[in-house]
Amino acid sequence: MAANKVIIEVRINEYTMRDDNPHVPYSPQEIADEALACWREGAAFIHYHARDPQTGAPSADHGLYADTVRRIKDHSDLITMPTLGAWWMPSPEERISHIVEMAKDPATTPDCAPIDMATSNVDTYDATAKRFKTTDTVYLNTTQTWEYFATTIREAGVKPVQALWNISSVRHTQAFVEMGLFEEPLYTEIVLTEGGILAGHPGTIKGLEAFLDFIPETDAWQWSVMSYGGNLFPIAAAAMERGGHVSIGLGDYHYREMELPTNARLVARLAQLARDMGREVATPAEAREMLGIRAA
Ligand code: ZN
Repeated sequence: MAANKVIIEVRINEYTMRDDNPHVPYSPQEIADEALACWREGAAFIHYHARDPQTGAPSADHGLYADTVRRIKDHSDLITMPTLGAWWMPSPEERISHIVEMAKDPATTPDCAPIDMATSNVDTYDATAKRFKTTDTVYLNTTQTWEYFATTIREAGVKPVQALWNISSVRHTQAFVEMGLFEEPLYTEIVLTEGGILAGHPGTIKGLEAFLDFIPETDAWQWSVMSYGGNLFPIAAAAMERGGHVSIGLGDYHYREMELPTNARLVARLAQLARDMGREVATPAEAREMLGIRAA
C-alpha cells in the first residue's frame, strides 16, 4: 500500500534565472532531461514553466509547453504539471489556453494544472532598504475565475491541484469540494513564501503548522509543502513527520548554501531524508494511485 509514502515534486524552473543558479533548465529538451534525472533520484511529480530557450524569459508559447510534456512522456510515467499563467496575463481564458491546447492531443496532455486559491498582494519587500520594490501588484483570482478554471481543467481531462496561500485558501477549497467542483482525493500544495514575498505564511515549521490546524486529516486530502523564495530543508523533515509530501526545486530558490546544486541533487537529498526517517519514496505509479490520477 502506497498510503504512507512521500511524494517528491520538483519545481524545476519557475522564473529563476541562470544568474542565480546556472543549472536552471529553459528549453523543453533541458527541462525534460532534468526532469528525467530527478525521476531517477525519486521525484514522482514535475512542475514547470515554459521559458524562452535562449534568454530564459517567461513564455506563453503553447508549443514549448506541449513539447516538454511530450518529451517527458516518451521516457517516463512522471506526473506532469505545467503552470497556469498568472497576474501579468490579461484574462483567465489566456491564462489557461495552453492547457486546453495541450489536452487536444493525448501525447501532450498534462496530468495536472495548479489553481492559486487566493487573491494576493505580490509586491516584493526589500527588508534591507525597508521598502517595497513595487506597490501595485495584485494577483487577482475571483471566485468566478476559480469556477471557470476548475470546470475547464476537468473538461480537458486534467486534474486541478490547489495551491494554498493561507487558511482562507483551505476554506475556499473545502467549499469547492462541497459544490462538486473539486474531486477527492485532493493533491494540495502549501505555499510558504520567503525572499520578500509576504503573501503566504513564512517558510518555517510554525508557518506550516498553522495550515495543519485547518487541513482535514484524511487520506482524501493529501498535501505537499514548498518554500517559494526560501530553503525547504528546515521544513522538510517536519512535513514528512506530519504525513505530508514535499515540493522542491531551483524554481523556488537557488540553494547557494549547497553550492548551487542541480534539481536532481535536491531531489536525491530529500529522498535520502525520507528514507532516513523511515518513509519510503513514492514512484509516479504509486503517487498516481494515491492522488486519483489516471495511469500513464
Ligand atoms: Zn510555477
